[in-house]
Parts: sequence; C-alpha cells; structure tokens
Amino acid sequence: MRDFRVACARCGHGTAYPAYRCPACAAPLVLDLAPVPPGDCRATSGQGLWRYAGMLPRTRHTVTLGEGSTPLLPLRRDGRDVHVKLESLNPSLSFKDRAMALAASAALDRQLDGLVLASTGNAAVSAATYAAAAGLRCRVFCATGSNAGTKLQTARAHGAEVELVVGHYSDAYAAATRAEGQGWLNVTTTYRNPLLTEAYRPVAAELVEQLGGVPEVVVVPVGAGPLLRGIWLGFTDLRAAGLTTTLPRMVGVQAAACAPLARAWTAPDWESALREPVTVAPTAAAAIADPLRGYQDEGLLTLSAARDSGGAIVAVDEPAIAEAGRALARQGLFVEPAAAAAVAALDTPAVPVRARAVAVLTGHGAKEPSALTVGSEP
Ligand SMILES: [Zn+2]
Repeated sequence: MRDFRVACARCGHGTAYPAYRCPACAAPLVLDLAPVPPGDCRATSGQGLWRYAGMLPRTRHTVTLGEGSTPLLPLRRDGRDVHVKLESLNPSLSFKDRAMALAASAALDRQLDGLVLASTGNAAVSAATYAAAAGLRCRVFCATGSNAGTKLQTARAHGAEVELVVGHYSDAYAAATRAEGQGWLNVTTTYRNPLLTEAYRPVAAELVEQLGGVPEVVVVPVGAGPLLRGIWLGFTDLRAAGLTTTLPRMVGVQAAACAPLARAWTAPDWESALREPVTVAPTAAAAIADPLRGYQDEGLLTLSAARDSGGAIVAVDEPAIAEAGRALARQGLFVEPAAAAAVAALDTPAVPVRARAVAVLTGHGAKEPSALTVGSEP
C-alpha cells in the first residue's frame, strides 16, 4: 500500500487527513500518493479490490465484502469491439462499494463513529452496507429530487439513519457537509473526501488483466466524476510502473437533463462555465444528476482528467439512455439508466466506431426496476 499526503488541487497546500477543503484557499483536496513499484501494480492472491492493495493508499484495516474483480463481458454491438465492465455486480450492486470499502477501513483506522454522506441512492446503500460490515454508524442525506425510493429502504435495513432533504443532490451535499467532523467521516461520493477517488485505481489494472491490454476508450457515467478520474489515475500508475505503454481516452457521459460538466467541456473557460446556473430537468439517470451547486470546483478534477487523457465529456438524451437500457436488458444485462448512459455514449462522436472501448456499467437495475420498464416497447 502507498503512503500519502493530502494536498490542495489548486495551490498544493498540504493538510492532515481527514480533511475536505484546502485550509488556505478552500479548493478541493487530492491525495498525493507515493509512486507505486511495478510489483505492487500486480494482482496478489487476495480477493477483489484488495488484490491490488499495492495501488491503494495505506490503511491498517481491510473492510471487505468481496467488492471489485467485477466481470468484463463483450457486448454484441454491430461488430464493434466493445466490452462492458459490470460494476453493477459489486456487493451492493454499484461501483461505490470500492470507495466504501476503503472509506470504512480508513474510518476504523481513526476510530471514528460512523460514515455520513449525501446520496442519490446508490452511495447510501453502499455506505450503509459497509458501515454495517465494519460496525460503524451511518447517516444518509438524500434529496427528494433524487427519487431514491427502494434504495433508501435498503440503507435503513442495514441500520442507517436516513434524512430526506427537500431539493436536489446539491442540497443533500450541503446537509452532509454540515454533519461531517466530530467522529463522522464524510463519504459523499463527489470529490469532497479525497480518499474515495483512490479506490477506483484498481479498475484500470483489472481491465488490463481482463482485456490483455489497454483499451483505447473507457466510457464512464459521471455526476461529479471521481470514478473517471480514479480509473485514469490507475492507468497512469500502470504506465509509470512500466507495465503498460499506452493510456486510454477517458470519456465521461452525463444525462443531457443535468449536464454541467458536458456543458463546461465545450466552453472556453471551464471555471466560469461551471459557475453558470445549471438547469435540472427530469431524468431516469438520477444517479448521475449532480448540478454541482456549491462545489463547482470539484468538476475541474474530472474535466482535467478527461483532457489529460485526450478524451471528452458528452451528454446523451433520455430516449438514447432508454434505448441503451433496453438493448442491454435483451442481452441479459439489467442495469440502471445511469449505467445505460455509458452504452448510449458509444454512439457519440467521442467514441470512434473502430476503437476498442469499454463501457463501465456503474449500477444494477434491480434496485430501481421501474426506471427501465417504464416506456418500454410493448
Ligand atoms: Zn489551496
């Protein structure tokens, strides 16, 4: 595992973990990890996420429910070379389990009381699941606009305290921010807690292991986007360690109904574009509907990762998301609309038709089956 320091993404000011904003300039924080030796980027005999523990920031505890090592399957799609990474098959049925396994381990290291977070639903289920496994408390703030429904019932079943906040995800984010500290680790899955992004690095190693090489494009559904950045950082680890020679282009996808990053991507000045008001229209892909209100600067980390990789951030509309979801279901893959957005993005100009591509299916459909069956063709 890797020693780390916490540093400001803008000014480089160092601070102790846990911390959530730069004490000098209030910008988001990132982890500055020690370089990873080549041997530590290779799989160990461990299980799941922790097979690649050498790529992760150091923790003393190892909380696990078998997350990670998710299947990679070829997608039948007009002769294209496309695979899907089934993050939907993690223990609580979304990719967030990787981050929560690491976060719960870090909370135990520091003898904290519990995990607190804002969530559209998936993170709530994941945090509640891992808090239960670790013997920690869990407090969830969920916005009424997220229509989290049965996901919150699952979180409650694991013993989480769930509070509904009137408004959108950003309103829940503010509530979780007020509750952080005093024994509560904020595990809101934007960039607020800089540790969480790091849990996604091993996805890159798993993809290289499963594909036998580096894909040309990796498509990732993004709200704030730490999954995209974490996977990108993992690929840079593998190249720095001399295990691979190329890097993929990272393509983030948002629902057009709520797409602050896709809008900023095409603007000349990202910072001012992110500060413009974001309209939020109804979307089936609620899991990635994040207007970033009040924490716009976090979006810069995702935009920068996409730019550094030569990728893009795109938006797809509701009919395209629904059609992608139906097509996946007919191939035996039941995912939530936010995950289907990754497959819809394969038909945008950001993904060349001949590129060897991977679409990351971030969440299972079982937690929200009506989202895909509503509007289905007869
Ligand atoms: Zn700073």
